[in-house]
Amino acid sequence: MAIESTLVLIKPDGLKKSLTGNILTRLSEAKLVIIGAKVVHVTPELAMGHYEHLKEKPFFPELVRYLTGEIHNIRRVIAFVYHGEDAIQRIRDLVGSTNPEEANPVSIRGAYGRITTSGVFENIVHASSSREDAEKEIKLWFKPREIVEKLYPVKEVMLNNVKEEVWE
Ligand code: UDP
Ligand code: MG
Repeated sequence: MAIESTLVLIKPDGLKKSLTGNILTRLSEAKLVIIGAKVVHVTPELAMGHYEHLKEKPFFPELVRYLTGEIHNIRRVIAFVYHGEDAIQRIRDLVGSTNPEEANPVSIRGAYGRITTSGVFENIVHASSSREDAEKEIKLWFKPREIVEKLYPVKEVMLNNVKEEVWE
């Protein structure tokens, strides 16, 4: 067993169905710690980066529309980093198989997911499926200072001439 980190996203259908509390309760069975959490507006660029490995698939354009929230008119997801022993597999077990009709009916996807007429699996949550994917995905969705553990090496850079909003 190893200490791992994994990315979880509550996808727009999970938010539309008001399942956030339910999902977090289910995931708490994994006995892990949340070390990062935020609401994120998903641009097409972010969605395409996240699903880069599927870009040749026929359902890719619809998948991007799904994650950006275009389909459900919910322009956000909630992103979490879970951390602890065997985190990736523990979360995947609670989340269930990719295809909601084949997923264990007591898993999150089995209980709440559906296949749309367009063929996309609306399966409520994303969860990283390997250590390599988890690292890539956590780095895509979170900045180092948004996570309360030092997971990966960081470097300091000077960002000159970058305009940033601060509270007035
Ligand atoms: N997906 C789909 N049809 C497929 C395979 C995947 O609609 O035949 C969608 C589904 O929403 C899935 C996402 O694409 O969650 C990413 O696919 P992946 O194979 O990475 O599955 P996951 O890791 O999410 O279980
Ligand atoms: Mg995947």
